[in-house]
Amino acid sequence: MINRRKFIHASVFTSLAGLTNKRLPAIQDRQAVKGNPIVISTWDAGLEANKGAWEVLSKNGTALDAVEKGVMVTESSKNCCVGLGANPDRDGFVTLDSCIMDHQFNCGSVAFLERIKHPVSVARRVMEKTPHVMLVGIGAQQFAVAEGFPLEEQKLSEDAQRAYDNWLKKSEYHPPAVNVENKQGHGPFAPAKLDNGEWNHDTIGMVAMDAMGNLSGSCTTSGAGFKMRGRVGDSPIIGAGLFVDNEVGACTATGQGEDVIRVAGSHSVVELMRQGLFPEAACKKIVERIVKIKGEKAKDIQVAFLAVNKKGQVGAYAIHPGFEYAIKTNEMEKLVKAKSWLNT
Ligand code: ASP
Repeated sequence: MINRRKFIHASVFTSLAGLTNKRLPAIQDRQAVKGNPIVISTWDAGLEANKGAWEVLSKNGTALDAVEKGVMVTESSKNCCVGLGANPDRDGFVTLDSCIMDHQFNCGSVAFLERIKHPVSVARRVMEKTPHVMLVGIGAQQFAVAEGFPLEEQKLSEDAQRAYDNWLKKSEYHPPAVNVENKQGHGPFAPAKLDNGEWNHDTIGMVAMDAMGNLSGSCTTSGAGFKMRGRVGDSPIIGAGLFVDNEVGACTATGQGEDVIRVAGSHSVVELMRQGLFPEAACKKIVERIVKIKGEKAKDIQVAFLAVNKKGQVGAYAIHPGFEYAIKTNEMEKLVKAKSWLNT
């Protein structure tokens, strides 16, 4: 079965790729910040993820390799519920969404992917080896297996099993913007504090600029905990959870995915930067747009954007306080609290 699939995959995709000439011609790169790489990523898990990205960036590697390696750290982490250790959907299955985009508008994405440890790497293979941008569900899984990704056991982590058993008592889906217990303003059904004192987060978005001054981004998540089966959020949607335009800048999003998709969030932020807004001002404008659309209900959701422009200037903005992002450059490595529409 797999051999046949491999064969079909190889022959169909090779010829389609030839026909569609999916790899786009190179865009003239601006060299404004040449030799001064930077990586930024969402939440405190970004500190570790940035270290992974830095191993690539510090050796003059590409931003594309950096954003893949960076978020793989989080996908592998047992202390962060982005990957297979995350909270399941309401039927008890962990389903993962991820995307990646380079400096030439090449992009790849997977959604509703099960039993694969590194969805970001599958997204990259979609980008590099198929004529498509997005594969979902069983098709994405078949592609991953054909590409040699191991199919992991379908088993919830201890934390996720505990959270799921607890959720089953009421089986209600009310994504809280702020988890009252842990006071964190991050994603829906943010899990509780771990025994080791760290917080779980359910999405990591990362954007980086390499020593050549080229931008790339990645975003990977288990999505909203206890979501409907088949639900896909913003994280794997190019233009929503992530967007990169190498002439302008890059942006990634976290929080209530449905409300990010509605305004093509990350793309909108990049377009505002194209018009001359600084990253924070651009993120703020799109947060305000969401707030306006949601009206009173804006208080019930968390959304945050994190952006960098072509000069390497960084900014972020969220609806609720509590959103923080990690930044790493040659000079610094730190966690920064973002400003928010609501104050503490
Ligand atoms: N944006 C993700 C989703 O809606 C969740 C998150 O960022 O916390 O799937």
